[in-house]
Amino acid sequence: MRRIVLLVCVLATGALLLLLRGTPPPSPPPAAGPPPPRATPAVSPSATPATARKERKERKERKVTRVPRSASGRFRVVSGTAPPGHGRGQVVRYLVEVERGLPFRPRAFAAAVHRILNDPRGWGHRFQRVDRPPARVRVALSSPALTDAQCLPLRTGGELSCWNGTRSVINAMRWAHGVKEYGGDLASYREYVVNHEVGHALGHGHESCPGPGRRAPVMAQQTKSLGGCRPNPWPNPDAPALTAGKVR
Ligand SMILES: [Zn+2]
Repeated sequence: MRRIVLLVCVLATGALLLLLRGTPPPSPPPAAGPPPPRATPAVSPSATPATARKERKERKERKVTRVPRSASGRFRVVSGTAPPGHGRGQVVRYLVEVERGLPFRPRAFAAAVHRILNDPRGWGHRFQRVDRPPARVRVALSSPALTDAQCLPLRTGGELSCWNGTRSVINAMRWAHGVKEYGGDLASYREYVVNHEVGHALGHGHESCPGPGRRAPVMAQQTKSLGGCRPNPWPNPDAPALTAGKVR
């Protein structure tokens, strides 16, 4: 009994202190079990003042692209074509769609997707961009609202991207801002999301982290949890890069 009274006192004192300080109580820890799609902070907690400065700078830069929660709700196929990449892989015809009303240049998005898909570290196919069917894959840049609608019954919560059986739906909010698992490395996050969602289109399912410190498989749900693995955007990360980091 005395213990309960003491506990109540401790709780009451805590609440009083919080009231006096005028701060809200701390939020509860995340629930255990499979994580539902949820909002994540754009930047991880800072370890050092230098890191904090860098993260503040990145946050500022990313604010430049303001992605609306919803846009027109209609995709437009990006016009123009791009030849399949080199090599001996199978040619895969794909097309790119961008929701009308988003603050991205459709051709620039299509060029980024084409570079990523034809990188030697990619899926090993030769991706040919077309602007009319037939196409095996559609890669669509989509506002959070349209992503949620397109991805049902999967719950993307305005945050995640998906493969919905027809389209690799890339959430424009994350295309602009990245995810905390990739820190400030927006380019690598973009490579991950394209390879992952197109990986589904090619028939690949989810994989898990093979062990702490190892590279995450590209088909792991890296933006939900790395599970102790290191982020990795590539299906074949050991293949030589085409032109280190250049968008071309
Ligand atoms: Zn997935």
